[in-house]
Amino acid sequence: MISRLRFAHLPTPIEELPRLSSTLGGPRILVKRDDQTGLAFGGNKTRKLEFLVAEAQDQGARMMISAGALQSNHCRQTAAAAAKFGFECTLVLTGQLTGQASANLLLDELFGAKIVNVADRADRDRVLKETFDKAVADGKKPYLVPYGGSSPTGVMGYAFAVEEFMKQGVHADWFVFGTSSGGTHAGLVLGQRLFGYQGRVLGISIDESEEWLKTHVSALASEASERLGKRIDFTPDDVLAMDQYCKAGYGVLTDAEREAVRMFAGTEGLLLDPVYTGRAAAGLIDLIRKGFFKKDETVLFWHTGGQPALFADGYSNSI
Ligand SMILES: *Cc1c(COP(=O)(O)O)cnc(C)c1O
Repeated sequence: MISRLRFAHLPTPIEELPRLSSTLGGPRILVKRDDQTGLAFGGNKTRKLEFLVAEAQDQGARMMISAGALQSNHCRQTAAAAAKFGFECTLVLTGQLTGQASANLLLDELFGAKIVNVADRADRDRVLKETFDKAVADGKKPYLVPYGGSSPTGVMGYAFAVEEFMKQGVHADWFVFGTSSGGTHAGLVLGQRLFGYQGRVLGISIDESEEWLKTHVSALASEASERLGKRIDFTPDDVLAMDQYCKAGYGVLTDAEREAVRMFAGTEGLLLDPVYTGRAAAGLIDLIRKGFFKKDETVLFWHTGGQPALFADGYSNSI
């Protein structure tokens, strides 16, 4: 039996994007609104946290510790979940602090999270471990939420998201979405197998190499499958990932993301974020222009959230 709390706003709607589709002269495009999952503006981490918070409770934890970038959506949603379920929360955040906290970082503070800032990413793992060990020594019973919530436990959220999709009775030939720590990707791959989704699952990399994603996502999906009673051995060949849209580096806003954010906003009134969904959508737009999808196919863009970052210093003045 896998423990799960129920606080996400599910099922998330599936909507048509006809004006985007005709602007691109492309296939039918749908969007699955996982930016509307609830919990502090929503996003893909809500589904994972339903399982992660339940596991923390089962273990008798009283504190949640996680790590990410200063504008991490994952950390914002973890901090909100911690507040909601009465955990202390400490976040190890990488990046240069400048002036007043904005966007996700501001929200972390509103949720009462304690911030440990690490200027250099190379120090992140060490500081995270020290923070965790100190919390243990202080008797705080911490629960470590891994980067992006992408443990086998977190992966459950997206395995069951495919079950939800299947029950919605909508046809899609492709799922296209941004992939980074791989938990969303692994969940969709596992859910595809478990619930008989016949289409393809294409992750557009935000920051990792295609090779790393194929290896990591297949291993994570295999490990997660064990929780459901029977191990399925996924191989790297079972995972579809593209890494040609992340060359600029994590969080770097280029003309491609800018165009995607403006095109979705301007044709559909739909907001993307500058780091994840903007980049994934830039990949989607490029693939449509190149004729990668057949005209009679239906492409479902799985919106993973992240919009608070639109208001972060550094993005709001350059988008
Ligand atoms: C975390 C995140 C992703 C990537 O999900 P992973 O499960 O870490 O691969 C995509 N989009 C947004 C908005 C995110 O916050």
